Amino acid sequence: MTNNSSAIQRICILGGGTAGWMTAAALSKVFAEQSIQIELVESESIGTVSVGEATIPQIRAFNHLLGLDEMDFIRHTQGTFKLGIEFIDWYKPGTAYLHPFGPYGANMAGVPFHHYWLKHGCQRPLEDYCLEAMAARAGKFIPVLKRAGAPPRQVNYAFHFDAVAYADYLRKFAEQRGVKRSEGRMQNVVLDPVTGFVQALLMQNGQKIEADFFIDCSGFKGLIIEKALHSGFEDWSHWLPCDRAIAQPCAATEAPKPYTQSIAQAAGWQWRIPLQNRVGNGHVYSSHYVDDDEALRVLHNTMLGAPLAEPNLLRWQTGRRREPWKKNCVAIGLSAGFLEPLESTGIQLIQSAISRLLSLFPDKSFAAETIDTYNRYSSLEMEQIRDFIILHYKANERQDADFWRYCRTMKVPDSLKDKIQLYRQTGRIFRENNELFSEISWLSVLNGQGIFPESYHPLADQFPAAKLDAQLAMLQQQVADSVAEMPGHADFIAHNCQAN
Ligand code: FAD
Repeated sequence: MTNNSSAIQRICILGGGTAGWMTAAALSKVFAEQSIQIELVESESIGTVSVGEATIPQIRAFNHLLGLDEMDFIRHTQGTFKLGIEFIDWYKPGTAYLHPFGPYGANMAGVPFHHYWLKHGCQRPLEDYCLEAMAARAGKFIPVLKRAGAPPRQVNYAFHFDAVAYADYLRKFAEQRGVKRSEGRMQNVVLDPVTGFVQALLMQNGQKIEADFFIDCSGFKGLIIEKALHSGFEDWSHWLPCDRAIAQPCAATEAPKPYTQSIAQAAGWQWRIPLQNRVGNGHVYSSHYVDDDEALRVLHNTMLGAPLAEPNLLRWQTGRRREPWKKNCVAIGLSAGFLEPLESTGIQLIQSAISRLLSLFPDKSFAAETIDTYNRYSSLEMEQIRDFIILHYKANERQDADFWRYCRTMKVPDSLKDKIQLYRQTGRIFRENNELFSEISWLSVLNGQGIFPESYHPLADQFPAAKLDAQLAMLQQQVADSVAEMPGHADFIAHNCQAN
């Protein structure tokens, strides 16, 4: 047994972007009763990436952990609600589908709903059986649906928000709980010459910041984890060739939609994220297939309102840090690796890294088993999300551009190949090792990208055909009636969480 003298007493977080402040906020909350000093170092002159505007429902668990008041948080971040993502022109031009956050229908006799839908000949769109999808299409929103004679139904939702405002909100939260913020530019990392552990960060002003444990939230550069500790990087750009984005907000021209839009373009795709005060736009593209000037032109051609800021060009390499935790440093956020924002997973990866770190929180012995476990699960998590994102590209029938031809014909990881094959042959989706994306997500994208099964679950045949007709009609009606009773998304915001 180790004793208290080996407990971590000082933590230094390098970086005050979304990753840095989410980490500082969570640690300050969870360690409220411990005498651990937390110091966050950031440089205003360097700034942050600040484009993480769309999230997935898990963020509500993070906000809940902190005890944030949801309406107050929405008000302070110009937030709106998100019920899913619409993919336009992805399968082929002229097509569109939703990846909603809520379930389709309900399991019957232990068999997932979509097998009955397949048995029924897919007579109506799958979306008709999903409350979140139909509410999104109708521009409706409510967090919990209460209908006479039925139990309350929690709606599955996430948020769109201003990432800078969110980091600022969390900064106030963390500082109120004792986190010390130091402004300044880090110049050098001081390593112990014998162990190679990080001893201190040397600042440009000569200050030395010492700690027992360092959290690298310095962004793409990975100033501690890579520049000082040489963790290594696994490149995935052959599977996900987009390596740049131009982001630019514009004025809103309509009420905010309760979903993100992702519109395929000739060499990538474009996001449209409605906030209360503006619409976030970005063109994600492969620099191998289109240059920056043309990429900007595409963005401007499809932007619906007047630009509100200068375009912001971002470059990256897709992949993961080989050892996100090395010695006494763990990388969280962009420093740990990057997957393009197609399924809004950046903030989720920060959140799950924090939660994994809390479960495996070390003492000063930094046991190898702890670090290996952290790294193994980090790697598995990123690979599973990577596969899901690759699916959107691989399963396309676009004939209009080399980029899409490359994606269609590229070799994909075996893990993804097996998943597609299983679905194609049997209609089954097998969610492995508690992976982030659920059967609903896989089903939405597989179907949306034109992959249909050759058969369905054999037990679905045991459900009498006449009864199935009635059951499906009832489910669809229930969804339609529920949506009819929900308030409009913009009305809900105006009454509950309108920003000042
Ligand atoms: P950064 O924001 O880069 O912050 C780095 C910090 O380190 C800054 O505070 C900086 O000052 C500090 N720093 C750096 N060097 C030094 C130094 N030498 N000395 C002192 N301080 C230093 N995620 C989502 O969940 N949803 C989305 O919709 C989404 N969209 C995205 C779109 C694009 C194009 C990109 C690139 C990312 C997107 N992400 C999205 C991801 C999300 O933006 C990031 O996960 C998130 O911003 C975390 O960034 P970070 O804090 O790791 O790094």
